[in-house]
Formats: sequence, structure tokens, C-alpha cells
Amino acid sequence: MEIKNLIRKNILALSPYSTARDEYDGQIGTFLDANESPFENGYNRYPDPRQRELRSLIGVIRGVEPANIFIGNGSDEAIDLMFRIFCTPGRDNAIAVAPSYGMYEVAAGINDIEMRKVLLNPDFSLPAEALLEAADSSSRLLFICSPNNPTGNAFDRGEIIRVVENFAGIVVVDEAYIDFSDRAGLLGALASYPNLVVLQTLSKAWGMAGLRCGLAFASSEIIRYMNMVKYPYNINLATSENVKRLLSGPVSDQVAVIKRERGRLARAIGSLGFVEKVFPSDANFLLVKVDDADALYDYLIARGIIVRNRSRVPLCQGCLRITVGTPEENRRLLDSLNSYKRDDL
Ligand SMILES: *Cc1c(COP(=O)(O)O)cnc(C)c1O
Repeated sequence: MEIKNLIRKNILALSPYSTARDEYDGQIGTFLDANESPFENGYNRYPDPRQRELRSLIGVIRGVEPANIFIGNGSDEAIDLMFRIFCTPGRDNAIAVAPSYGMYEVAAGINDIEMRKVLLNPDFSLPAEALLEAADSSSRLLFICSPNNPTGNAFDRGEIIRVVENFAGIVVVDEAYIDFSDRAGLLGALASYPNLVVLQTLSKAWGMAGLRCGLAFASSEIIRYMNMVKYPYNINLATSENVKRLLSGPVSDQVAVIKRERGRLARAIGSLGFVEKVFPSDANFLLVKVDDADALYDYLIARGIIVRNRSRVPLCQGCLRITVGTPEENRRLLDSLNSYKRDDL
């Protein structure tokens, strides 16, 4: 597959903005090139537009070469860049599983790209055949979120690969929740599939949602286009410093706590009379089907607890999405759930 043939013509022809800081690589002591303030306050200098240090740190953690890593202002930047690089507005289309992360459709809409949504199978498994059937000669992107938000399940790896092998465009696999899953992600498959883009994020397991740092892994060719189209200084210095500091934090211990709490919560919630089903989860949240989702949602808000009401989402009728919190937060949730209905009597 020739990636070049999928790139928008205007992007192929683009000569990117060259920053003052792109032009040197050696040791410089006096910076009079970028019209910055010379008075040091920690942030008076522009950050590295190529994010060399961060990419090499993340490369070591994930076992991926820096040339195959893009760092964005959240995954949302990477999602938007996919449309801007591969889709001609008003002409091309994209495909995504449904229900899934809302940002794919919003980014499609902003870029004037038709989004074709393909419902998951009733058991939430991947509708690989239907996804491929939804494609035509103008289909450029296909989004698969695994583990999927809001259903919580990871898809069968062989089924995802079947889509990657048979779709004539770019397949974006969003692994925002992969650290909570016992299944391996697709980073190991990158070298075999030039049309595969894997998204991950520091916003969930890594605990840095407030810093806005999303990751994309792909062939060096795709990464080169992403770096060409992004804002030159998309990752600011404060974010980059804090990410570096927090990357060595106790993330694997925290993930272990969340996974243990997820199991405990699922069993406790599953035993409540008004709960019809707790869906299996490979993520840090549970999708829970109850007898009256709106009523329970309002009840929890009145008790100072907010969850996500997904009851109007296709295939999720009657469902709330509940994030796994600290053991103390989960205890508070269970206390409230245990007194629900009993309070009404
Ligand atoms: C939370 C989430 C993200 C993270 O987005 P950021 O912009 O990196 O914070 C990405 N994809 C999915 C499916 C998510 O649920």
C-alpha cells in the first residue's frame, strides 16, 4: 500500500513552517534568533518543536523508535490531524464503530467529512465485515477504539488485523485504555502494517489528563506528515517538564489498584437488585445496565456523585458508565447504591 496516494494533495505540496529552533543542532549559548525575551524566568524560551527528549523517553517506555512517535496536545490533536492529512473536505469519508468515543465524529464534522458509523455486534464484538462493507473508494480513515469507550471491551486482535489488512485507507486504533487490559495492544504490529496508526494517551492510566499529552505511533512516513502539519509548539514547556517528571511515577501500582477495584466493584454492583448487567471491562470504567438509568443518575448526583449517563447511546439503553475511583471513592459509591430504593421506601 502506498501511503503517499492517501495524503491530501495540498499536504503533499506543503512546505512546513520552519522555526528558528529547527536550524541548529549543536551547542549554542547565545540565543538571538527567535525574538524571545532574554530575561530568564523558566519559560521565556520556545520549547523544542521536535520534542526530542520526550519522544526518546516515551520510546524507551513503549519499545518504539522516536521516528515512529508523534506527541500531541491530547489524542484529540492526533485525531484531528488524521482528518487534515488524509481527508479532502466535502469529498472523502471516514468510518467508525458505534457506540464509541465522540471525538471521531466531532473532528469529522469540523473537517466537513462524512462519518459512517457501523454498530457493534449485539455482544459488543467487532463487526469487521460490516466495517469493510461500509467503505467505498472515498473512504480514507477507519476508527476502532479498543478497549472501546463506552462499552469497555477490547476487541479480538485477529479481527482488528483483518480490518487493517483489508481496508484501503488508514486504520486508527485508539488504545487510550490499553494499560488496563490484560490483552497486548497493536504496537508490535506497526512494522507489518504501513496503514496502521495506534493512539495512546497520558490522560488515563498515566494520570496526566490535565497536562494534555496524547501519543500516536505509526510508520515514520505518517509521523513525518503529522509533525509537518501540527502547530510547531503544540507541546508547551510546562507540560513537557511535568510529563518527564511524572513518567517515572508509580503508574503500574496504580493500575494494579484500579484493576483490583474494578473486579470488586463489578461483583458488588452486579449483586444489586436493580442492576440488570455489569459488562466485562478491559478499561478503568464499568458499563452498568440498570432498571431506570435516569433515576439512578439523578439519585447519585443528589448524593454528590457524578457518573456518565449513556442510556441514550445505541446498544447502551439503560446504561450508566462508572469510572473506577480510589478504594474510598468506590466505597462511597457502593454506600449510595446500597441505600438506593431503600431511601424511597
Ligand atoms: C479519554 C479518551 C482519550 C483521551 O483523549 P486525550 O485528548 O488524550 O485526553 C482518547 N480516546 C478515548 C477513546 C478516550 O476515552
